[in-house]
Amino acid sequence: MSITDNLNLINKTLPSNLSLIAVSKTKPIVDIIEAYNAGHRSFGENKAQEMTDKYNALPKDIQWHFIGHLQTNKVKFIAPFVHLIHSVDSYRLLLEINKEALKNNRCIDCLLQMYIAEEDSKFGMDYQEAEDLLKNKIFDLNGIRIVGVMGIATFTYNHDQIRKEFSILNAYFNKIKAIYFNNVGYFKEISMGMTDDYKIAIEQGSTIVRIGSAIFGNRKYNK
Ligand SMILES: *Cc1c(COP(=O)(O)O)cnc(C)c1O
Repeated sequence: MSITDNLNLINKTLPSNLSLIAVSKTKPIVDIIEAYNAGHRSFGENKAQEMTDKYNALPKDIQWHFIGHLQTNKVKFIAPFVHLIHSVDSYRLLLEINKEALKNNRCIDCLLQMYIAEEDSKFGMDYQEAEDLLKNKIFDLNGIRIVGVMGIATFTYNHDQIRKEFSILNAYFNKIKAIYFNNVGYFKEISMGMTDDYKIAIEQGSTIVRIGSAIFGNRKYNK
């Protein structure tokens, strides 16, 4: 199966209002070009340098999604072009994104990465940490817009576990929406679901899925 076949197959099964991010991390430019020629425009990367190199090499109508842990000193590299940062996990990072966005005359859309998994190796905030962030004057920051939440479920074959974690993220979304973004139309995204669990994520209310290996094949090194 080619990348084009994989994309077409996945697109056929996705609800039409759902966004598909093709996660191209570690994959070469030629693979992205194949997906691009098949009509796909949204790609996900988890390293600032790799994403910047790919941005420079590829057509400028691609929307680049940053999905990995983002260090504050790397924000400046992606601020000129990034479409959506899925992985905001501190107020300090949010302030840095705001600063770099304003330097570029931009307003960068961000998601709050919430910790939902059982294993403790995953990045993200717990609900209290998200509230602490949201209690700052975030609406005064003209360089950023918080448009929703993101989460990564535990890597497990236990579907009930995954389902529970995604339903927790959905509940966090609704709670944050009701308290901090009531009547704010742009706060509407729940980024959850990867190759092995995106069907469960969709069932639990995902609006954005991030799919890598089912499109591009397995990665040589997993990160
Ligand atoms: C790698 C990665 C994905 C895609 O993983 P697959 O299992 O290959 O679909 C999605 N989200 C994040 C945050 C990732 O790091």
